Amino acid sequence: MTTPETFQQFVLPTYGRFPLVPVRGEGARLWDDTGKSYLDFCTGIAVCSLGHAHPRLTAAIREQAGMLLHVSNLYQIPQQAELARAIVEDHVGLPGKVFFSNSGAEANDGLVKTARRFGHKRPQADGSPRYEVITFNQSFHGRTLGGIAATGQDKVKEGFDPMLPGFKHVPFNDIMALEEAISSETVAILLEPIQGEGGVNVATTEFLSAIAKLCKQHDLLLFFDEVQTGFGRCGDSCAWRTISYDLKPDGISWAKGMGGGVPIGAFWISDRIIGDEGPSLSSLMGPGSHGSTYGGNPLVCAASLAVLDEITEKNLAHNARRQEQRIRGIITAWDLPVITEVRGKGLLLGIALDASMIEVPEGKTAALVIVTKLMEKGLLVPPAGPACFRLLPPLNVTDAEVDEALAIIHEVLSSL
Ligand SMILES: *Cc1c(COP(=O)(O)O)cnc(C)c1O
Repeated sequence: MTTPETFQQFVLPTYGRFPLVPVRGEGARLWDDTGKSYLDFCTGIAVCSLGHAHPRLTAAIREQAGMLLHVSNLYQIPQQAELARAIVEDHVGLPGKVFFSNSGAEANDGLVKTARRFGHKRPQADGSPRYEVITFNQSFHGRTLGGIAATGQDKVKEGFDPMLPGFKHVPFNDIMALEEAISSETVAILLEPIQGEGGVNVATTEFLSAIAKLCKQHDLLLFFDEVQTGFGRCGDSCAWRTISYDLKPDGISWAKGMGGGVPIGAFWISDRIIGDEGPSLSSLMGPGSHGSTYGGNPLVCAASLAVLDEITEKNLAHNARRQEQRIRGIITAWDLPVITEVRGKGLLLGIALDASMIEVPEGKTAALVIVTKLMEKGLLVPPAGPACFRLLPPLNVTDAEVDEALAIIHEVLSSL
């Protein structure tokens, strides 16, 4: 049986999979089971921040695996404490505390639970708890029951009714619509500073400033979903800082790139005092309020520490900004009419396509047609919506690798 045949018989068909069977990787390069090599600008959807088989990450995993893989969160875990310190001090730069999960959706569930606790602590005028979280159209917050309820796209909810109550979706970058949506039940606003899955849409500076102001005015929590954007991907540890530097969120979620490939997620809650005399926001999630058996175990924390240290020491966020400028410059110089726009920041870039210029078979999208052609030519990229594909190379990608990928993209798009 071939791998695709085995998949078909034994694995739930929740993904539309390409027939590609990757077996080995090194840096930005990946090899399949026939020996064909690819430039990997998909990186497992912005997960492999350091590329494949990075020596520092591999060594950290080997060393920790030989010492201690897992102990319960009933005990002290030095790697977890050290990773939380690094996240708070080196990346967020605001006093707060971290909880470790195994995925991005779980991290968002943690933020929503925190919002519900806050809504009990700071209820409506009649004493009933506030509970409603406002999120945005085209957002993506994961596939748990909380995640799909939070996500502003109908396709993830189809056939899973009834949804977890307490979410309202509003058009992205629309300040008036947001103002109108806030009610006495509203307790938090959750957004991706740059929407990833929804087509690479960047929040405007005015929008983020207005959100911060509305949160203050209505006593709402401000949450950023940085699952795809965080830790250097968009040219800064925190993507929101590339848009509106001085914002002070109440909570942040991460996953994807923070582990470089090991399954780890996290959320951070601010230590700020609620109201005039406390308690602190982070203290609302006290003993017994939340948990995860695997969350923050020694193996994944040792791996994530190696990833974050490498990103910091080599200033890979700067490389992300520099490569963005190079990519934008080269694509602009092509002047190809099929490319309508380059969206995003750092190395989360969306190449938007004019779908009317692309022959699209029934049941496919323009993005899938182009992604498949690029794959045949040796470049892996993920789609982002029906008429856009993303460039998500490792954060340490070189000029030569970027040039090679762009040459493939030019070849495919100029031959349409
Ligand atoms: C991928 C993603 C998630 C879900 O993360 P999982 O690890 O797949 O649960 C949530 N939010 C955003 C912004 C994402 O890109």
